[in-house]
Amino acid sequence: IKWTEGRGWHDAELVPYAPLSLDPANMTLHYAQTIFEGLKAYRQPDGGVATFRPDANARRFQASARRLGMPELPVETFIAACDALVTQDKAWVPNSGEASLYLRPFMFASEVGLGVKPANEYLFLVIASPAGAYFPGGVKPVSVWLSEEYVRATPGGTGAAKTGGNYAASLVAQAQAAEQGCDQVVWLDAIERRWIEEMGGMNLYFVYGNRIVTPELTGSLLPGITRDSLLTIAADLGYEVSEGRISVEEWQGATEDGTLTEVFACGTAAVITPVGRVKSARANWTVADGEPGEVTMKLRKALLDIQTGAGADTHGWMHPLG
Ligand code: PMP
Repeated sequence: IKWTEGRGWHDAELVPYAPLSLDPANMTLHYAQTIFEGLKAYRQPDGGVATFRPDANARRFQASARRLGMPELPVETFIAACDALVTQDKAWVPNSGEASLYLRPFMFASEVGLGVKPANEYLFLVIASPAGAYFPGGVKPVSVWLSEEYVRATPGGTGAAKTGGNYAASLVAQAQAAEQGCDQVVWLDAIERRWIEEMGGMNLYFVYGNRIVTPELTGSLLPGITRDSLLTIAADLGYEVSEGRISVEEWQGATEDGTLTEVFACGTAAVITPVGRVKSARANWTVADGEPGEVTMKLRKALLDIQTGAGADTHGWMHPLG
């Protein structure tokens, strides 16, 4: 779908996957006005297909657009575009379980010209790819690297938007995590370099027995849709769940005194993954016994049951395509 200043959204079309040709002076290549989303379509027990909370992705896409000075795509147009692609590609939706069809809606400036200002033309697209189960061999805890050298986002910056620049800024820290033998980077706040924000591509949850805390939305971390869903599901399951501030010292100290019983990360790709080991320039510790915890696995099952249709969709989160 195209957007042009003065005309709005126009020329929606469904076409076979193909490369785009870009002018060397395309504004996105220079000024990075680019936003995206990620969501999944799951096969349902009746053979149909349903996406998970596409309205939430549509609203986050609008928020990202506002932050990047881009036009907002109406929620219903975002959902209709995803529906059209999934309907066309229904045969590519895996037949069962945690496997899914991953959808990647995105928008970028399509105007040609050098000059730092919001563009007058944009292109919105959705592409799709089948995605296997994230843990085909069973859920395995990840290890994380606390990045103290780099920050992902600052107050007033673009951290809460799903925009390419945030990911570009994270690449060297992610490479550093890999050099340290860790799977993922964990970001701290930019000011005190002390408060836990999120992981490279997931939000974090800290479990203290029956009490569960996730870092509050400070404006510099992504408001994950999985994170938001788990606030509700955890409360449904009787846990005392809240948003708050967790410092590195708290993470390490509560691990040592045994009050922190589990830590897990959540996002569209892996749904929920346990965090087993934490490493920083100054410390290295194992979360509880380093194995997937009971609360983590219970929440994982509850959310996946909703997504795959194995459990009741009590919050009306599934969007069926018939
Ligand atoms: N934080 C970051 C930086 C991410 O890229 C993602 C993945 N979109 C998340 C958190 C989790 O968000 P969601 O649950 O909406 O996938």
